Amino acid sequence: MNTADTKAQTVKQRAGDALNNDFLRKAVRFTTERLRLGKKLASEEHGNWDDWRERGRQIRLHTIAHLDYYLDQFTEQARANGVHVHFADTAEEAVAISLQIAERKSAKSVVKSKSMVSEELHLNKALESIGVEAVETDLGEYIIQLSDETPSHIIIPAIHKNRYQIAEVLSEVAGETLPPDTAVLAGFVRMKLREKFLEAEIGMTGCNFAIAETGSMVLFENEGNARMVTTVPKTQITLMGMERIIPSWSDLEVMATLLPRSATGQKLTVYMSGISGPKREQDADGPDEMHIIIIDNGRSLQLGDPEFQELLNCIRCGACLNACPVYRHIGGHAYGGTYSGPIGAVLTPALNKNVAEWDDIANASSLCGACYEACPVKIPLHDMLVYLRRRKIEAGRGDKLEGMGMRGFSTVMGDSKRFRSVLSLGKLGQKLVVRNGEIRTKLGPLKGWNSYRVTPSIPKQSFRDLWPEMEADLRRTSKPMKPDLTNRLEERKRQQEGKGVNGDG
Ligand code: SF4
Repeated sequence: MNTADTKAQTVKQRAGDALNNDFLRKAVRFTTERLRLGKKLASEEHGNWDDWRERGRQIRLHTIAHLDYYLDQFTEQARANGVHVHFADTAEEAVAISLQIAERKSAKSVVKSKSMVSEELHLNKALESIGVEAVETDLGEYIIQLSDETPSHIIIPAIHKNRYQIAEVLSEVAGETLPPDTAVLAGFVRMKLREKFLEAEIGMTGCNFAIAETGSMVLFENEGNARMVTTVPKTQITLMGMERIIPSWSDLEVMATLLPRSATGQKLTVYMSGISGPKREQDADGPDEMHIIIIDNGRSLQLGDPEFQELLNCIRCGACLNACPVYRHIGGHAYGGTYSGPIGAVLTPALNKNVAEWDDIANASSLCGACYEACPVKIPLHDMLVYLRRRKIEAGRGDKLEGMGMRGFSTVMGDSKRFRSVLSLGKLGQKLVVRNGEIRTKLGPLKGWNSYRVTPSIPKQSFRDLWPEMEADLRRTSKPMKPDLTNRLEERKRQQEGKGVNGDG
């Protein structure tokens, strides 16, 4: 899906398209499952994972609370290392600085790596407009660029494509049919990109972390291309979101423990590079000139905001996407912005300032809290999503029908007698639409839900119906509550004819 397509539709329309795309759903589900399992095993094996999450959170909270101090320290150190440090308040300023450097260097081509922030700036198009070829060199990003699409995952940009689709895309570049064999395809890309590394005048990367105490930037990667990008071209540009900073190398130890495990389930990525400046006399390689562009672009709006400041703690690991039941069904393009999944649903409106335009993105969540559980720095994304929804209602931009439904729901749930009466009516009414314990009708509000899931019927006996007898049993036998309760609930389950909803919320 290209950028023009995403802008023209609502989240609901894009999600509908994604749900009808079986290839996409299978590919996204397959990879997110693999990543989720990898993370689970890596964090369990590591032990005391929650303690490390808390350490990570404290480092991020402290850094963001003192962001001006650490940015000053970083800038001073980086300049002392011979780096040109620039500040850009907006995307336009960051693009202008990048283009000026490219023009000054008479650049014809730029090789890029690891830069979601450059997606945020739409930098490739700007470079093309002045005749500079921008080549993405991360395998997934390269495939996305050739397909004229945008990334659909923070760390696996081509997550929505399978190897057959990738073979088709690469075959066009090769001018011959390549087999859907991952080793062959990766080998072909490797060969193509090698030429590009040697030709490019400028290497451009993002930045996983910036170390304030030494003015260094750190990159985590698996393919080795970021090392090529940062060492072969004569000029190096780093695009850095202003929140990427951490105080010291010892803080990096914590982040290096959290990031790869959360992202891919690896103990450490294949390469971790620390870069402190341009090539020195004693160095064998490296760029002659190095620039770091520190980018605000809406980030400082979160500073001091009690609801959203913690957004700046994000280390872009992607774990919340892999955990999110909504993302795993619809993939990343349905969110419409550069960042997708739970972090995208909050970050996109935050960075874009235009809340009304991004109103519906907060609805792309079941509010189950899986994103918070997955997050290595404990960002309460589910609370932020609730806040975004509330803000929309308070601003009078809510859906009137939904509002009426919610008021009715609140009236029923606020009074136990009313709740019982509605339940009894529901049991009677559902007889018309229940088959094998499931409500499968696609009438009214159930249309969207039942198109892709199953709604269980209201059971003959509710927990409230069962409880007096269960409680009496418990008192009589004085058995421990848990096993007895479990037996009764299993009995109740057997009494129901239905099989229940699918598993992920
Ligand atoms: S919000 Fe948390 S889980 Fe999601 S990308 Fe950021 S750090 Fe990772």
